[in-house]
Amino acid sequence: MTASCGGRGFWQQRADVVVIGTGVAGLVSALAAHRRGRKVVVLSKIGDTATFYAQGGIAVVLPDTEDSIEAHVADTLAAGAGLCDPDAVRSIVADGYRAVAELVDDGARFDEAAPGQWALTREGGHSRRRIIHAGGDATGAEVQRALDHAAARLDIRRHHVALELLHDGGSVTGVLVRNGDGLGIVHAPSVVLATGGLGHLYAATTNPEGSTGDGVALAAWAGLPVSDLEFIQFHPTMLFDGHASGRRPLITEAVRGEGAVLIDAQGNSVTEGIHPMGDLAPRDVVAAAIDARMQATGDPCVYLDARRIDGFARRFPTVTAACRAAGIDPTRQPIPVVPGAHYSCGGVVTDVHGRTEMAGLFTAGEVARTGMHGANRLASNSLLEGLVVGGRAGKAAAAHAVNSAPGRATMPEPAVRLALPRADLQRAMTRYASVVRDGEGLQLLTTELDSATPRALRSRADFEDVALTTTAAAVAAAALARTESRGCHHRSDFPDTDPAQAFSAPRVREAHSLMPAAACC
Ligand SMILES: Cc1cc2nc3c(=O)[nH]c(=O)nc-3n(C[C@H](O)[C@H](O)[C@H](O)COP(=O)(O)OP(=O)(O)OC[C@H]3O[C@@H](n4cnc5c(N)ncnc54)[C@H](O)[C@@H]3O)c2cc1C
Repeated sequence: MTASCGGRGFWQQRADVVVIGTGVAGLVSALAAHRRGRKVVVLSKIGDTATFYAQGGIAVVLPDTEDSIEAHVADTLAAGAGLCDPDAVRSIVADGYRAVAELVDDGARFDEAAPGQWALTREGGHSRRRIIHAGGDATGAEVQRALDHAAARLDIRRHHVALELLHDGGSVTGVLVRNGDGLGIVHAPSVVLATGGLGHLYAATTNPEGSTGDGVALAAWAGLPVSDLEFIQFHPTMLFDGHASGRRPLITEAVRGEGAVLIDAQGNSVTEGIHPMGDLAPRDVVAAAIDARMQATGDPCVYLDARRIDGFARRFPTVTAACRAAGIDPTRQPIPVVPGAHYSCGGVVTDVHGRTEMAGLFTAGEVARTGMHGANRLASNSLLEGLVVGGRAGKAAAAHAVNSAPGRATMPEPAVRLALPRADLQRAMTRYASVVRDGEGLQLLTTELDSATPRALRSRADFEDVALTTTAAAVAAAALARTESRGCHHRSDFPDTDPAQAFSAPRVREAHSLMPAAACC
């Protein structure tokens, strides 16, 4: 179906549920809605997802083991540094085994220690071995393979970029999209936002190229609150191969779980005396220790010594391949590593069923802030959250669609949005909002973001630059407002945790990201 706006045509589609994203959260929610008989349209701007690259595994409490829901909850709350919502954590952790079993029904296969018994590994901050994995360190590839296969019969539209959430002020009505044919609207009473993370706010990241903070920006433009965005997790061990930009390979934390140690160029331990869990301390602690050591020595990286691990190449084939591609043999030499932008603990304010403040709009996965991660995500808790909340969001979206009138969206008034050139934005974020920040730097970052200029949305890159700029402004504002250090937010000018700031601070959209209309469509 086509229509026109100011003399220019645009295409239109109808669905009960539109899902934006084809990672774990998007596909699990799409499958849940589809299995409830709803007409589902799934949008994806590119083929790549963060889900595919997940290495270490999925944290899950298996029944009839020494592990317990309470222990997993306690570890998650400890990592979250006082900002997790304990009820949300308990709800998601307790539903983990059921969600993983559903994924197995959809065809996922995990590594076994013995026939019928999953192999369990350990990662930073976990008091038990509770991480299931696949293909050694290729868990995400297996999760994505299984979900892609299960969702093969769904209506999946790739190279469709969601540009705006359409709503009537109270309820969502559809999504404004650009594809190869130009602009279009998918009308729907339910929309699930599952757009993943924002690692490309920074020059170097473990995230795939599509992780440009689109979901946070879309929600902010729709007037929805976002929260906890100052808590960006830097993975302690991103491979340092001399290249400092774009997606860089990750060295999974499970390598340390199996006995590798972090050392500096002189062979001294990086984490000794820092935390009782040493190299397996929560990620924020290890990343800050590495950052401090690099500052002290002036070296561009530290090293992960995995030479003592037996059968390294078999257990970690993905890491081995990445190291070899960089000319490093991890069985013979320590692996050079630096902290890298990895995961957004915050996002769009959402309950544990994916519900947001806007009727019909649901979010799940990395873009959502459910209260699961607080100030710092516990390793391997994000695939878990994507599975559990993705499934619940799909069910809730399906139920909402049944009880609502069909979505009738109208072509929005065109908004010219502001963008900084991507390289400038990434340079400023990397310099002023990385592992350790301070007020002066964050002010300079804000000033730079304020110099953003209007950008016509002619391409996916234009849209992503605008989304990155809006999201960076939200991160900068949150980081500036939190005058303490907590979880992954380290302020050198406020090095202590302030008990009076043990709360999340949801904020509504940053005003400077919108400009008056200038041109139609
Ligand atoms: C290298 C790496 C290793 C990791 N290892 C682990 C691990 O071992 N365990 C763990 O629990 N977590 C791990 N994580 C984190 C975890 O993989 C992610 O948080 C999770 O997969 C995110 O899933 P998602 O469905 O929210 O988003 P993604 O999987 O990133 O999918 C996002 C989707 O949204 C689409 N999209 C985005 N914007 C738009 C738009 N504007 N229009 C249309 N489509 C859009 C993208 O095309 C994509 O399809 C790792 C992450 C990385 C990068």
